[in-house]
Amino acid sequence: MNPRLSNLFEQVYRELRPRAPLPEFEVRFFPFSNLNNTIRLRQGRVLVRLSDLLEGAPEPVLHAILHILIAKLYRKEIDEAHAARYRKIAGTQAITEKMRLIRQMRGRKRIAGASGVHYHLEEIFEDLNQRFFHGLMGRPQMTWSNGHSRYSLGHYDPAHNTIVVSKIFDQPHVPRYAIEYLVYHEMLHLRHPVKMRGSRRCVHSKAFQEEEKLCPQLAEAKRFLKGL
Ligand SMILES: [Zn+2]
Repeated sequence: MNPRLSNLFEQVYRELRPRAPLPEFEVRFFPFSNLNNTIRLRQGRVLVRLSDLLEGAPEPVLHAILHILIAKLYRKEIDEAHAARYRKIAGTQAITEKMRLIRQMRGRKRIAGASGVHYHLEEIFEDLNQRFFHGLMGRPQMTWSNGHSRYSLGHYDPAHNTIVVSKIFDQPHVPRYAIEYLVYHEMLHLRHPVKMRGSRRCVHSKAFQEEEKLCPQLAEAKRFLKGL
């Protein structure tokens, strides 16, 4: 579980119920398609799901929402300052816009998941992570695309921190080095965010291209992709 959330839950619980023993609990971010936050009591365990739209939210906001949820669960009075703090963020343009985008994305492409029939994208990511990035790269969401698109072989979607790889590669005749190349390329997009040069977007910078050359069997991989 996210340690930041656990600590916060404990703190808020203590504020609301100073004398009651801390129950078993689980708090996590969940990809709701709107600003949903839920709390449930299941066999003595408190289960909290926070909308992943709040994942980057500052501490006072998370504090406020946990306060509201825990207070509701135990029928305590909701502190007006917390309620106001939460209303304020929920109404901001940033959140509304994010919600619109997420609804669009999640509505359109249902996430297919990382595990294919022949290759597992998370396993490939972690293997490359160890070999080339000292295991230091945080793994984004990895998923096969739903369609068998030839046009988008792979892409990194920064809004959802997701690497998507076309399903056409999840086949026995596709060599592993070709998928490794695609995933490695998208990992470099994570490392080298798009820069603006004047009004031009620089997607594959010089540094990006230099690092791409370190990809093993680069030439074979490119040849294979061309032959598709
Ligand atoms: Zn690229």
